Amino acid sequence: MQFNTYTVAGAHVAVWLVNHPAADARDLTAALRRHDVHQPAAAADDALALRPWAARLREVFAADTAAAKAELADALLLAADCRPRLVSHGAGEPFHFHYAPVGSGLAARVRALTAAGLAHVIDGGGGTRLGACTRAGCGVVFLDTSRNGRRHFCTVRCANQVNVANHRRRQRAPA
Ligand SMILES: [Zn+2]
Ligand SMILES: [Zn+2]
Repeated sequence: MQFNTYTVAGAHVAVWLVNHPAADARDLTAALRRHDVHQPAAAADDALALRPWAARLREVFAADTAAAKAELADALLLAADCRPRLVSHGAGEPFHFHYAPVGSGLAARVRALTAAGLAHVIDGGGGTRLGACTRAGCGVVFLDTSRNGRRHFCTVRCANQVNVANHRRRQRAPA
C-alpha cells in the first residue's frame, strides 16, 4: 500500500495529534498545512476540542490486534460523523475526498479526516501498521511505512535503549 497519498494523509495527521496531545493552535495549523488539509487555520478552541479526540485515536494505535483496531476505527467513523464526498475546487481541478463539509468547522473536519485516514489504512490491509512504540513508558505512535511492516519502536533511540537493557539483563542472569 502507498503511504504518501492524500487518502492516507488523515492517518499521518492522526499520528501527529496523538504524539502532540498538548498542541496549541499554531502547531496544529502548521501540522495540518504540512498534510495539505484545506483551510488549516485552527483556533485555540479547535486545539482544545481535539484533545479528547487524540485520546480516542490513541486507542486504535494501542490496540493489540488488527480486529480490535478495526472495531475502534469503525466507531470513530461514526463518532466523527464521517461523510465522504467527492469535491473539486474549480473547473479542471482534480476531484478528491472531503470527509466533512468545510463549513462544519475545523475540529469536526479533523475528526472526520483522521477517522477516515485510519479506516483507509485498515481497509488497505495495513491495520497492524498503526502501531505504538513498545518501549515501556514511551507511548509514541506511528504509521509503519517500512517494507516488511514489522516496526516495534518509534525511533532507533528507543530500540537501542531496549536492546541495551535486554543485553544487561542477559549478562546479569546466572549462566
Ligand atoms: Zn479539497
Ligand atoms: Zn519510543
